[in-house]
Amino acid sequence: MAASVVTRFAPSPTGHLHVGNLRTALHNWMWARRHGGRFLLRIDDTDAERSREDYVDAIRADLAWLGIEPDGEERQSARFDRYAERFDDLVRSGRVYPAYETPEELDLRRKILLGRGLPPVYDRAALRLSDAERAALEAQGRRPHWRFRLDAAAPIAWEDRIRGHAQFDPALLSDPVIRRGDGSWLYLLPSVIDDIDMGITDVVRGEDHVSNTAVQMQMFEALGAAPPAFAHEALLTGSEGKLSKRLGSLGIAHFRDAGIEPQAIVALLARIGTSDPVEPLVDPEPLIAAFDFARFGRAPARFDEEELAAVNARIVHQLSHQAVADRLPSGMGEAAWHAVRPNLTRVADAADWWAVIEGSIATAGQDEADRPLLEQAAGIAAGLDWSDQPWAALTGALKATTGRKGKALFLPLRLALTGRDHGPDMAALLRLIGRERSVERLRAAAAGPGQRF
Ligand code: GLU
Repeated sequence: MAASVVTRFAPSPTGHLHVGNLRTALHNWMWARRHGGRFLLRIDDTDAERSREDYVDAIRADLAWLGIEPDGEERQSARFDRYAERFDDLVRSGRVYPAYETPEELDLRRKILLGRGLPPVYDRAALRLSDAERAALEAQGRRPHWRFRLDAAAPIAWEDRIRGHAQFDPALLSDPVIRRGDGSWLYLLPSVIDDIDMGITDVVRGEDHVSNTAVQMQMFEALGAAPPAFAHEALLTGSEGKLSKRLGSLGIAHFRDAGIEPQAIVALLARIGTSDPVEPLVDPEPLIAAFDFARFGRAPARFDEEELAAVNARIVHQLSHQAVADRLPSGMGEAAWHAVRPNLTRVADAADWWAVIEGSIATAGQDEADRPLLEQAAGIAAGLDWSDQPWAALTGALKATTGRKGKALFLPLRLALTGRDHGPDMAALLRLIGRERSVERLRAAAAGPGQRF
């Protein structure tokens, strides 16, 4: 039997998660869930200066809001000893070596190579230093940074779950720097050590990491481990079809403020970039069951806020009263929620309709000619049994006495009873508005403009 799937989402806590990160997190979580495996949150906080604890908290909160529950959390800053241990192994085996060039020297060499039309690959001058030369450099106060020596003879290839066959010629890659002169870590090696130690079976990340994967493939091997499977996702683009700066700033805070439900984000991000349609599902289970990297294409995935808003409306229409009760005005019960839900694009707008039901409404400009109808309506309403479909009884009686029907009958009533010319089903609303208020509103409308009830 294949080993159980273990995935990880590995953000650096140097800012808030944006929609591209959220998508990566979601896909890692869905893939693990689909296979009954585990999903880890790995905080990539090797950069002590830029990492912030409030961002770590925000990352956890954002994932929780989306319904993404990690099965475990790891922190790179807690693992420096382990990285040093594996680093020492690699130094001993000759796969990691010290280099002394300054950034300016490296830059100059790169320019020379480019000027000759050659690929700007690091020339490994540091590997040719004698012990005495190294000692002399260190005596001048130079501290080495450390490079991982790529094996130029071994072509790098893997079957990417999204991109298919991927291949790199190591001779065209520079030996990557993995540790700085001050001992701090760059991203590449710690990530591989973690993926090995944490039993990661599937690495799912953006295609901006493809060339990192190429060098990391050799690090797995050098550390004696089989590499995990990789899925590199095409990046998101904005609705205008271009890589958009705006996407980098869109996070959970923005979506929450805009009244977007977590289920809408999940439903959309689960499907954009795939050959499957976006479905407004409140329950993520069917999305998880159908989640498959084989459905993803290599073309950028288009993220459209208008599409998100449309999916959101369709999610809101399905939410139970229980799911939203703590965001509704106090007293707004299940019947009222069900009555207004189909007319909402955001849960917060339920309050407007609750005010229409419970509060006072401004009488809308009624046509003079409708006044007798409204007068009659008030009289009929006063005598109705409100527990037994008052709207059907009221309109049925008015139809019979006035001969009006359709819009000529319903619109003046709606205007008088709600102050608006459109809105939720009147049968449900009228029951909620109640007899007393309905009669008052109908009388006020019949009496003329400017009255508030
Ligand atoms: N911290 C890295 C990033 O945010 C993780 C990349 C990876 O998934 O390996 O880009």
